[in-house]
Amino acid sequence: MDSRFATHVAWTSDQPLGLSVDWAEGPFIYLEDGTRIIDLISGIAVSSLGHRHPRVVDAVRRQLDRHLHVMVYGEFAIESQSALAHRLSTVLPASLSRVYFTMTGTEANEGALKLAKKYTGRRRLVAFDRSYHGDTHGSLSVTGRAVYRDPFVPLLPDVAFLPFGEIDALSAIDDTVACVIAEPIQGEGGVRVPSVEWMVALRDRCSETGALLVLDEVQTGFGRTGTLFAFEAFGIVPDILTVAKAFGGGMPLGAFIAGDDVMDALRRDPPLSHVTTFGGHPVSCAAALASLEVLLEESLPARAVLIERRVRKALDHPEIVEIRGKGAMLGMLLHDADVTGRVVRHCLDEGVLLGWTLHGDSLVRIAPPLNIPEAVLDEALAVMLRALDRESPARP
Ligand code: PMP
Repeated sequence: MDSRFATHVAWTSDQPLGLSVDWAEGPFIYLEDGTRIIDLISGIAVSSLGHRHPRVVDAVRRQLDRHLHVMVYGEFAIESQSALAHRLSTVLPASLSRVYFTMTGTEANEGALKLAKKYTGRRRLVAFDRSYHGDTHGSLSVTGRAVYRDPFVPLLPDVAFLPFGEIDALSAIDDTVACVIAEPIQGEGGVRVPSVEWMVALRDRCSETGALLVLDEVQTGFGRTGTLFAFEAFGIVPDILTVAKAFGGGMPLGAFIAGDDVMDALRRDPPLSHVTTFGGHPVSCAAALASLEVLLEESLPARAVLIERRVRKALDHPEIVEIRGKGAMLGMLLHDADVTGRVVRHCLDEGVLLGWTLHGDSLVRIAPPLNIPEAVLDEALAVMLRALDRESPARP
């Protein structure tokens, strides 16, 4: 491990992978010692076009030659921001017409929560067990795992957590609630897909009570689950949509997106009550527009469906209890946490990078680039099967 990394970069666990990356391209990451790694996790659902897609790199270069940061969000009509906001409006429902750009996912959720409070004048928030919305104080307050909240209390007051996916529990949402925030498919909480009935009931309950529905598509957005946004498959539309991760094509970018009526609440009483210096950085916006065009031109959301089919067919193994998720956002639940750790390690030793969830020890997660060539995916799946065979206690 790089001794400067070991000594001076902050660690967030006692077991960092500590891989020294030299360069990356397409589905591959190359280490400084020359090792080639197949990236099946895409920087946790970020590099949906693979690493350094030429169209994204070209857009970044062109923007670098024009300008970098020039003015705090919303004061100048910055071409790359305006073009991206307009393009998004052409692929989103008409009610999601205004984009507030941020840099990260947690910041998008912070903005959404503040916007909901300001628009409704209400203070209570509702979220779901096992949810993950980010690590800043507001987003952490609506993250549904006490173990991650407890070291940081007091957080925001007036947050209620409901069981994810249970229709009866939705009656707890009433007309004192500013917003309900949910992931359409929970990622870090264990790759959990709720039923269409539940999502429709959630949408209905929010409409009845005037609570805004915030859908956090930071992880599910931009084709990962088989449609451009996961909410499309449930046949509902949120009041506020939050995105990040794959949005920037590898550059830092997030957003919360709402209708004019809702977003107007940020303009006054007082004006400038929610600003961010670097939100919607021109280079990130240029990268995001190029990335979105490639995603649409190459029908990559549909590719996510093919990836799911291929993975489910290949990974038929007794050590796998269940394959959860949708499209190219999948989690393999194994019988045993120790085996899970060994399988992930074994695959890495054989040149395949898998994911793990922040909140689930026995879950192996994959989120490959949506344009991963079939042969590369098959190669990685073969490595996974070998690792499962080798590490599975039933098959010494
Ligand atoms: N929401 C969801 C659903 C996420 O998966 C994540 C990141 N894993 C976040 C929010 C936070 O995003 P960021 O790390 O960019 O703050």
